[in-house]
Amino acid sequence: MSRVSEPEFEQALNELTSTLAPFLEKNPSYEKALKIVQIPERIITFRVVWEDDKGEAQVNRGYRVQFNSALGPYKGGLRLHPSVNLSILKFLGFEQIFKNALTGLSIGGGKGGCDFDPKGKTDNEIRKFCYAFMQELSRHIGPLTDVPAGDIGVGGREVGFLFGAYKKYTNSFSGILTGKGLSFGGSHIRPEATGYGLVYYVSWMIKHVEGAEAGWKGKKVLISGSGNVAQYAAEKVIALGGVVLSLSDSKGTLLSTSPEGFTNADIAAIGPMKVAHKSLTDYHQSTSELKSKFTYHAGARPWALVEKADVALPSATQNEISEDEAKALVKAGVKYVAEGSNMGSTQEAIDVFEATRTSAKAVGDVVWYAPGKASNAGGVAVSGLEMSQNSARIQWTREEVDEKLQTIMEKCYNNCFETGSKYTKETGSALPSLVAGANIAGFVLVADAMKAQGDWW
Ligand code: NDP
Repeated sequence: MSRVSEPEFEQALNELTSTLAPFLEKNPSYEKALKIVQIPERIITFRVVWEDDKGEAQVNRGYRVQFNSALGPYKGGLRLHPSVNLSILKFLGFEQIFKNALTGLSIGGGKGGCDFDPKGKTDNEIRKFCYAFMQELSRHIGPLTDVPAGDIGVGGREVGFLFGAYKKYTNSFSGILTGKGLSFGGSHIRPEATGYGLVYYVSWMIKHVEGAEAGWKGKKVLISGSGNVAQYAAEKVIALGGVVLSLSDSKGTLLSTSPEGFTNADIAAIGPMKVAHKSLTDYHQSTSELKSKFTYHAGARPWALVEKADVALPSATQNEISEDEAKALVKAGVKYVAEGSNMGSTQEAIDVFEATRTSAKAVGDVVWYAPGKASNAGGVAVSGLEMSQNSARIQWTREEVDEKLQTIMEKCYNNCFETGSKYTKETGSALPSLVAGANIAGFVLVADAMKAQGDWW
């Protein structure tokens, strides 16, 4: 059978398949579910013609992958980035199915986006693009069918434009997107949710290894990215007493040279700069104080830049930790790696981390790895809560949503830990595999719902 090469999707599929092996050995009938779940229920591709500020027509390719609706309406973000293609959206949609299952909420998996590059575009062009994109997408989504959200290049501004466009094209005000503004159906904590949830997840990893009283105090933390996920992960790490050593973007890494690391003031200043698509160099160069407080490493990612760190939180994009960078993290004494990004680590990097788990004599020798589909599930979890609030026409307080997010991340962690313990105990490893735990737990939930609905037998 000839197949179109889809490297990112095949990588995500191989990661899932390889870790399912101990489960499938004991439950061979689920091989059929695996064969079926890897094909999207539907893929929509479409032309997006929009008008730039000169009045000229521009054209891009738009997509929505409606991957799996066994557990609820398709749910997953929209990515606007020139690299967007079907392989990337299929990998993201595939990951999303099992991530959404791990939240325990009624949400299926999907992903979409466009190869439109928001960088260098005016607000007016972004608005025109969003309207053109939604003109076609609006035919395929709906509060009971498919509820997109943000991802790379799509934040509050874009979600607002997309929501407004949907409302005009369909004459209905409904919860068809999450990440909306608070005044038109958004949820408190949705912008923060992925970053906060990531930190909550790692808090449980730390407790397991270092004891119930242990936390982030004094931990040196490497973070990549400086967008939505990275900013709020940094904010929460700082709030819990950790030291944020780095942030990065597509051009390079900013490394703190001060013992306190990045401060809340740094994060608050970087946020609006990123909405305006400026780079971290602009921030670094803006005052002489900042020039001496940070060093800038053009073209570099953070992982091999420091001699000592405790935690690594990749939060920019896929495949952002290579095998060599994983080895550098091990050498620097990092004990916890948890992905804010989707598929942040290459398979070779995961193998480096997982090898420390199986070879370690004591838990303290492990570089414990949490895959994005578990550790970054907080974003979609609060999106699920936004859908619940929209259905009930209510708005919970910030505290209520944060508490629910914390509970979901704790349950997600426990599910990964317990399922990992059940299927990876026989290796005699010091700690269970959270990647196997996440994959098996998510897969079984989805496969069982598919079977009950007659998708396989
Ligand atoms: P943003 O667009 O807000 O930020 C993305 C950040 O990553 C920016 O700093 C950007 O740099 C950097 N980046 C993007 N592409 C590359 C690249 N090819 N190489 C190096 N750096 C890059 O996106 P988010 O923070 O929302 O998303 C970050 C990651 O988290 C993605 O993998 C996304 O799928 C994942 N995620 C996001 C969720 C959410 O709720 N937003 C939920 C779960 C996962 P620059 O500024 O230079 O463009």
